Amino acid sequence: MMQNTDIKANNNEQADAKHLSENSDLLIKQQLTEQQVLIVGGGHVGLSFALLLAHHGIASTLLEKNRYPTIGPEDDQTRSHYLDSRNTALSRRTVEIYQEIGLWSQLQSHACRIDAVQISEQGSFGRAQLNKTDEQVDSFGQVMENAWLGRKLLLASQHESLITLIDNAAVTSIDQQIDGVTLTFNYYDENEHEQQLQGSVLVACDGRDSTVRQLLNIGITTYDYKQTAIVGVVETDKPHEHVAIERFSPAGPLAVLPLTDPEGDGNDDYQTGFRRSVVWVCPTGEETQYLEDDAHFLQTLQQAFGQRAGKFVTAGRRGAYPLKRVLAKEQVDGRCVIMGNAAHTLHPVAGQGFNLCMRDAHVLAQMLSTQVLKGGDIGDPQLLKRYEKSRQTDQKRVIRFCDAVVHGFTHPNPAIKLARNVALVAFDKLPNIKPLVANYAMGLKS
Ligand SMILES: Cc1cc2nc3c(=O)[nH]c(=O)nc-3n(C[C@H](O)[C@H](O)[C@H](O)COP(=O)(O)OP(=O)(O)OC[C@H]3O[C@@H](n4cnc5c(N)ncnc54)[C@H](O)[C@@H]3O)c2cc1C
Repeated sequence: MMQNTDIKANNNEQADAKHLSENSDLLIKQQLTEQQVLIVGGGHVGLSFALLLAHHGIASTLLEKNRYPTIGPEDDQTRSHYLDSRNTALSRRTVEIYQEIGLWSQLQSHACRIDAVQISEQGSFGRAQLNKTDEQVDSFGQVMENAWLGRKLLLASQHESLITLIDNAAVTSIDQQIDGVTLTFNYYDENEHEQQLQGSVLVACDGRDSTVRQLLNIGITTYDYKQTAIVGVVETDKPHEHVAIERFSPAGPLAVLPLTDPEGDGNDDYQTGFRRSVVWVCPTGEETQYLEDDAHFLQTLQQAFGQRAGKFVTAGRRGAYPLKRVLAKEQVDGRCVIMGNAAHTLHPVAGQGFNLCMRDAHVLAQMLSTQVLKGGDIGDPQLLKRYEKSRQTDQKRVIRFCDAVVHGFTHPNPAIKLARNVALVAFDKLPNIKPLVANYAMGLKS
């Protein structure tokens, strides 16, 4: 267990004393900490939500099933591995949210700008390109290594006195009362212990197979894409020039994203230093050959992708993710909210899943903060239902968009193939469509 609630109580006392001795804004923060948010699941969404709450002066206790790694100062200097596998495309809105809570300055050294997006289909004439200058933006977003994002979120949470992290802990039951919610969990050190926590509201960020969702008997709808995403980092013989490339092939979509240069990161196990992140979707069952054999992976990648990124020269370790859409039928039950992948797990084709979760987290933190400033109960079921309703438009739009891209671009019918190529050409030429799509992709329209 990383911290216990006694330590937390001390931390809060110290933090509160500090707030009281400063100005009246901080006095409000001190009052805000009296209501407690319980968060289950400390992945990127759970940790980000805890940090958003802390930014508003709201205290939270976060339970994570796995044991967090110990992070030393030297870990901060280098990447976890030069060719480590997963990366996330952060939309401009997500970057703005991290800027708002003061975290972006710590994240940005490992963020790579996307200045242009190219879309094309293997063996077809249609192609389209979005450029930052045409759309009059600084960038369309940033690509970041998951390992780096996770490490920074964890460090920031550990240093935040309003956040208590309890790792190695598994939820066993949830009991809702009229004025609060009680969480029972087991945590493990040398022995197993059962403990309870009381909060005003519980937010489940415990992933696609959410235990909280099951304990609350919230149903799901699922769709198996019968596809697996292979993710990894490759080196090319040409620099990426900050271009993200989305290419559709009969087997599935393929995205090649720019990554930061390795210069000065202490690693020397690279050939060219031109790193790119690859997300390659293939029919489930075909992934093994691409995971195990580097040469075969690079050769097939080159065939599917052509020369637009140059020559693929090195491949790092790859991971495989079977793709399923999982949607919770409800995202609020009494004083409990389902968030992150627990609420909606999407196809990664357009890099929207985490960005959508961040917009949900931002809105909920804002609504809870407003409620406390009004002297209200942050677990008020009516308030939480208003949150759920307020997020429906954005969520439905993103879910529809992702599915349209997956199905539209993998349909083998020649007439549909022709239509989508004509659509790509039209998209590239028509003046009013691009800014709209660019805004959606950047997470600026909801
Ligand atoms: C291949 C791929 C590429 C992607 N690329 C992008 C992208 O470029 N841009 C983008 O926006 N999105 C992307 N996504 C989506 C993004 O990865 C997810 O939306 C995001 O990781 C969801 O995070 P989460 O914290 O909700 O869930 P998770 O990452 O699943 O975290 C859940 C956490 O809860 C913990 N947990 C589970 N059960 C319990 C329990 N019972 N008690 C306590 N803790 C528990 C887990 O240990 C874990 O730490 C991609 C997804 C995939 C598969």
